[in-house]
Amino acid sequence: MKCSRCSVHFGDNWEPHYMLRNGQGTSWAYRTAECPCCAELAVEVSRTDRHGEPIGDWVPINPTTPVAGAPDQIARRRVH
Ligand SMILES: [Zn+2]
Repeated sequence: MKCSRCSVHFGDNWEPHYMLRNGQGTSWAYRTAECPCCAELAVEVSRTDRHGEPIGDWVPINPTTPVAGAPDQIARRRVH
């Protein structure tokens, strides 16, 4: 994969994690991969089935992408 910050290519080193709310499991998981050059994290989310296995594709979370429908002031504040 390619780092979104420094553009270095590195091997997948995904670590999956289950999302909790109030200490209870949810039907969501996220996974992170760390760039070995600049330590930037890539983050992806997925719904999970009752066994905790991802359903469908992992969806990348890009902090530099404005949220659809968010007012411009909020969208700009999120881009740093
Ligand atoms: Zn990097």
